[in-house]
Amino acid sequence: MKLKDIIKASRKISEPYCITDGGKFRLKDIDPDDTAHFTSENKPQAKEALQTGISALCELQDMLYAQDRWGVLLIFQAMDAAGKDGAIKHVMSGINPQGCQVASFKAPSSEDLDHDYLWRCQKHLPERGRIGIFNRSYYEETLVVRVHPEILGKQKVPAKLIGKEVWDNRFKDIRGFERYLTNNGIIVRKFFLNVSRGEQKKRFLERIDNPDKNWKFSATDAAERKYWKDYMHAYEETIRETATKESPWYVVPADNKWFTRVVVAAALIDALASLDLHYPEVGKDKLKELAATKKELLAEK
Ligand code: ATP
Ligand code: MG
Repeated sequence: MKLKDIIKASRKISEPYCITDGGKFRLKDIDPDDTAHFTSENKPQAKEALQTGISALCELQDMLYAQDRWGVLLIFQAMDAAGKDGAIKHVMSGINPQGCQVASFKAPSSEDLDHDYLWRCQKHLPERGRIGIFNRSYYEETLVVRVHPEILGKQKVPAKLIGKEVWDNRFKDIRGFERYLTNNGIIVRKFFLNVSRGEQKKRFLERIDNPDKNWKFSATDAAERKYWKDYMHAYEETIRETATKESPWYVVPADNKWFTRVVVAAALIDALASLDLHYPEVGKDKLKELAATKKELLAEK
């Protein structure tokens, strides 16, 4: 398949999950078990599509790196066991590690809490020419912190600034921050891997029953299930308030890992294809230099 056709196909696969206008977004309209036109019988075809996508990504990333103008920030948010790690690992598997950086954000350290909440994320923004991945991000500030407002109390933000308007201010600031990045050539794409509560339970049980997966399980993750509704509400509102044309959210069905990966790869291809990527042009002098060096090399004994 030619790159042009892969780009076209990727747009078709990812577009239904792309939220550019938050105002219209409702989480209940999205089915976590959706696999578009792929059925479980043609799972092998989906896997093949992923492989094709990955080789296209590799090609696009090579240009992104060589051109050294644009940067790409990919943000992954999800409930536990939704498959963030696996999606990142698979989609990035064919990519040149030099052009890619991953940062994971856990509960903030005391040093982090001595700063504004964007501080720790800003330190990990991708350089031009690179793809930066945030495994969780500043969005936790309107997700886990919203569900557990007591966290807000421990953040050392002056009390006067954490009234009712704190969430609206955070949404506004995040929109502004992402606009700022976009205006500087760092494009932002956000992924919510949308797993169902039932599938999460299944995956937790697997982690408990399979000794090789025991390390992944934490009882606190399971305890968070009590707040499922609150989390879904926080996700919905966050997406409604921060999905824009320039930095959309992809709400990716996550009950079938193989499908999640296809959609994420397709969305990334679509994002890269939206940039005017090309290899740097070589001027006349450089061409002359190349020809002269070639001659010298060939003349070597
Ligand atoms: P993950 O859960 O992402 O797969 P992990 O299990 O290795 O990774 P954890 O130690 O569970 O890592 O850290 C992630 C936890 O940190 C999540 O529960 C998340 O809600 C929490 N967290 C992240 N950012 C913040 C924040 N700004 N404030 C409070 N908690 C946060
Ligand atoms: Mg965890």
